[in-house]
Amino acid sequence: MIPSVLPTYSRAPLSFVKGEGSWLFEADGRRFLDLGAGIAVNALGHAHPKLIEALTTQANALWHVSNLYQIPQQQKLADMLVDLTFADTVFFTNSGTESCELAVKMARKYWYEKGAPERVEIITFEGSFHGRSSAGIAAAGSEKMTKGFGPLLPGFKHLPWNDHDALNAAINGQTAAIMIEPVQGEGGIRPLPDQCLKGLRDLCDEHGILLILDEVQCGVGRTGKLFAHEWAGIEPDIMMVAKGIGGGFPLGAVLATENAASGMTAGTHGSTYGGNPLGCAVGCAVLETIAKPDFLSDVSRRAGTLRQSLEGLIAQHPNVFESVRGVGLMLGLKCKAANVDVVNAGYANEVITVPAADNVIRLLPALNITNEDIAEAIKRLSAAAKQIEQTS
Ligand SMILES: *Cc1c(COP(=O)(O)O)cnc(C)c1O
Repeated sequence: MIPSVLPTYSRAPLSFVKGEGSWLFEADGRRFLDLGAGIAVNALGHAHPKLIEALTTQANALWHVSNLYQIPQQQKLADMLVDLTFADTVFFTNSGTESCELAVKMARKYWYEKGAPERVEIITFEGSFHGRSSAGIAAAGSEKMTKGFGPLLPGFKHLPWNDHDALNAAINGQTAAIMIEPVQGEGGIRPLPDQCLKGLRDLCDEHGILLILDEVQCGVGRTGKLFAHEWAGIEPDIMMVAKGIGGGFPLGAVLATENAASGMTAGTHGSTYGGNPLGCAVGCAVLETIAKPDFLSDVSRRAGTLRQSLEGLIAQHPNVFESVRGVGLMLGLKCKAANVDVVNAGYANEVITVPAADNVIRLLPALNITNEDIAEAIKRLSAAAKQIEQTS
């Protein structure tokens, strides 16, 4: 008999009832160190007082109004994002895949309005992840995500990661945009080198096409900059955001330049919940905290500590771990043992990590994880590795 919850996830036998900072509490009383943060969502950890205050204050005043009316919290969050980034305008969604939907629509509408309706094609890359909507799976293109769900949304061209010749050959009179994650998340924490991101920007400029960055996982302070592309000193035309921006409240956004967004006039897109008062009140509190230069330099400092400790961990357990990669607090441990075994051994030692492609486990802790918790994380990961060494 089919479970009452549609069985699209194979779930760990863990059931958390409370969170506090970088800790999750199981119903049976056990305390887990959370290095997954709900897959880069709980950017400020669990139960951050400022977010609780923002949410409860707004909950006492007004939960929902339609986008048919002005929403001051939404206006405030949009103004903050415009001030802090390349963007001139923002549309709010409830998730990453909805941000992907709009990014695709916006790029196509841009060309339609420019009198080039044949430019519909979006170039994407192997190993990418853009969510589970029809556009999201068509954009990523992997068999794992698309098999059985045809006919797929047409107009995506999938290229190998890191193949300049294939990229140059792929651009033609039908190309609308290039869409890429500056640091692949699900794909196994694969950072795009800064010079490649610069190269992509140049290529887009040369051909007049749009650069869409998916910063759903790597954005909002995760890499030690507010957005990951800042490391390369470039700006996209369109950017997808979600996960960390809501700190645990479902919230996403599409940021764009005035030019890229020029086709999106009244009536061309909408969302019932996107940008609702609750989500935006929390989003403002998240952004006010994370966008502070001191906070971001602290992320880099913590990331340095964690990364150095992980190098030590790898040296101690060369049969379990191979290498560490990533940027800031978006780190991947490439494993020699099976990554799912490492994640499970982590559960047994009360530390939470997240598997990714390429036999990697992801460490995406709260951006405000303490030094003490980092030290404890390494202890627990080491205990997990020992357990694997003993059973293999
Ligand atoms: C998680 C993720 C998405 C999809 O976000 P949802 O909120 O699950 O729809 C899209 N792109 C990237 C890079 C992601 O990590």
